[in-house]
Amino acid sequence: MAKFCTNCGKEIDENAVICVHCGVQVKANNGNVTMSEEDIIDKKAKNALTFGLISIVAWIIPIIGYVMTILGFVNASKGMKSEKYKGRAIAGLVLSIIFFLASLCNSILGVISTLS
Ligand SMILES: [Zn+2]
Repeated sequence: MAKFCTNCGKEIDENAVICVHCGVQVKANNGNVTMSEEDIIDKKAKNALTFGLISIVAWIIPIIGYVMTILGFVNASKGMKSEKYKGRAIAGLVLSIIFFLASLCNSILGVISTLS
């Protein structure tokens, strides 16, 4: 079954990711634009900052703070390879470290106040 490029309209291989005629990325059979490894890394870098920003509020409830900062760490570690969004990955990592510690202090203080 043949597929046609969404940009130039020429016939291309049904498994093609990039059109051989115009070089534009074409949609996968499931209708989604296929993501290159670079796109995924860029997305991780952006996610790292998003989770970092959520952590600013989330640490107030330590359990949510831990989840958000850990997601921040995971995304930042992959997003560091991004050329475009490396700054966001670093910002996300820094925020994650700060608010992971804030969550930790918060839960320790919570335990102390419960015991006292
Ligand atoms: Zn094309």
